[in-house]
Amino acid sequence: MTARVLVVDDVQPNLKLLEARLSAEYFEVMTATNGPDAIAICKMGGCDLVLLDVMMPGMDGLEVCRRLRAASETVHLPIVLVTALDRPADRVRGLEAGADDFLTKPVDEIALIARVRSLARLKFSIDELRSRAAHSAATGAVESVETLESDARERGRILLVDQQRSSFERLVNALTPHHDVIQVDEPGEALAKAASENVDLMIISLGLGEFDGLRLCSQARSHESTRNLPILLIADREDRQKVLRGLELGVNDYLSRPVDRNELLARARTNVRQKRYMDRLRQTVRRSVEMALYDPLTGLNNRRFLERRLPAMIDTARQRGAPLTMMILDIDHFKRINDTYGHDAGDLVLKGFAAELQQIVRGGDLVCRLGGEEFLVAMPGLDATHAARMAERARQAIENKGFLIGDGSHPVSITVSIGLADFRGEQDSTDLYRRADRALYLSKSAGRNRVTLDAA
Ligand code: GH3
Ligand code: MG
Ligand code: MG
Repeated sequence: MTARVLVVDDVQPNLKLLEARLSAEYFEVMTATNGPDAIAICKMGGCDLVLLDVMMPGMDGLEVCRRLRAASETVHLPIVLVTALDRPADRVRGLEAGADDFLTKPVDEIALIARVRSLARLKFSIDELRSRAAHSAATGAVESVETLESDARERGRILLVDQQRSSFERLVNALTPHHDVIQVDEPGEALAKAASENVDLMIISLGLGEFDGLRLCSQARSHESTRNLPILLIADREDRQKVLRGLELGVNDYLSRPVDRNELLARARTNVRQKRYMDRLRQTVRRSVEMALYDPLTGLNNRRFLERRLPAMIDTARQRGAPLTMMILDIDHFKRINDTYGHDAGDLVLKGFAAELQQIVRGGDLVCRLGGEEFLVAMPGLDATHAARMAERARQAIENKGFLIGDGSHPVSITVSIGLADFRGEQDSTDLYRRADRALYLSKSAGRNRVTLDAA
C-alpha cells in the first residue's frame, strides 16, 4: 500500500524537504506551488492525501481546504494543514475549514510519517467502501451513494475513558452541550460499553493512573465490535512517543493537554461524522449483499440467488450422472386471500407457506421464492418418481394446514399447484425451468391443487 501524497507550498525549499522525507518512506509524492493547481490535481483524483501550507499568496490554505470539502470529488480527501501558526484558535479555524489535522513547522519527521500513514489508511478504507457501495447502487439494490453523505443528527455518542475526576469533568462539560457522553472509569469495561452503547467515538485519556491506554487501543482494534470505532487520545506533550505508537496501532486522532475546548469539539465532530458516514456505507454494502441473496419477507433465497446457484447444481448432477428434479409451486387463487383478508394477512400466509415448505424439503434442497406466490425447489439426488411422491406430500401438507392470520382465531386454508421436471443430461437450467413451469401450467388448467410431472 503506497499512498500518493500531494504537497502544496509556495516556497520551493519547503516542498523539497517534505518531498524528500516522504519519498524516503516510499510514498509517491506530487507537488503544487499554489491553491488552484492543487485543487485541479485533487479533482482529477491524482492523490490520496494533501499536505497543505496555510500561508500562500493568492488563495490561502484555508480557502483551498474549504473548496476541496465543498466539491463532491474531493469531500473525503484527507487534508493536513502545515502551518507555523500553532495557537488553538488557528487550529480551530483549520478544523472548521475541513482539515483533518495539522503539522506545525518545522515539521517533525516522525509525526509527519505517522499522520500520513494513518490518514492514508483511512482514505483507502473509505475508497474501498465507496466503490462497493457505488456498485450496490448501480445494481439498483440500494439508494445512491450521494444520499449517504448527509446526516442530520450531529449529536454523537462519545465514550470517555478517564480515571481522573478533575480532568474528566472538564471534558464532560465541554462535550455535553453537543454530544451524549458515557463515562467509563474502569478501563476493563470500556470495550463492552462501547459495543453495547452504540458509541460513535472513544476518547481515551493517556497517562493518568496505572492503566495503559494504549493496551485498550490495541484491544479495541482487534475486537470485531470496536474495530471500526474512532479513537481519540488525549495526552501530555511529553507522551509524544505513546501518541505515535497509538497512531501505529490505529488510533485516529489525538489532542495535547491542556485541552482546548473548541479544538476538542471540532475534532470530536469530525470523527463522529466520519464514523457515521462509514457506517452508512458499510450498511449499504451489507444490505445489498443480503438483497442479492434473500427474500426479505420469507427469508428464503431469492431468484437472483437461484440464477447464480442453479447452473452449478446442474453441472454437478451432470458430472456425477446423478438425478436432479425441479419443483415449482404456485399458490392457488392467492389474490382472493389478499382481497378477503387484506395484504398483511396475505404476507403472513406467504411466510407460513415458506416455513411449511422448508419443513417438507430435505437439507440439501435449494428453496427459493421466485416472486409473488411462486416458489421453486431444486432437489439434487432425487429422481422423478421420488420427487413426485415428495411433491404430493407437500401438496397435502399445504391443503391440511391452517395458516394463522390476524388474532389467530380464523386459520386460513389454501391449496397449491405444483409442476415437476427432472433433469436430463443434455439440458441446461433454462430448459429445466421451462419444463417445470409448463407442468405447473398443466396443474392449474386441470383444476389446481394437484401435481404434474413433465413427461416430455
Ligand atoms: P392462480 O391460482 O391462477 O395462481 O391465481 P392467483 O390469484 O394465485 O394468481 P395471480 O398471479 O393472479 O395473483 C397473485 C397475487 O399474489 C396477486 C398479488 O397481489 C399477490 N401477491 C404477490 N406478491 C405478494 C406479496 O408479497 N404479498 C401479498 N400479500 N400478496 C402478494
Ligand atoms: Mg397463484
Ligand atoms: Mg401467480
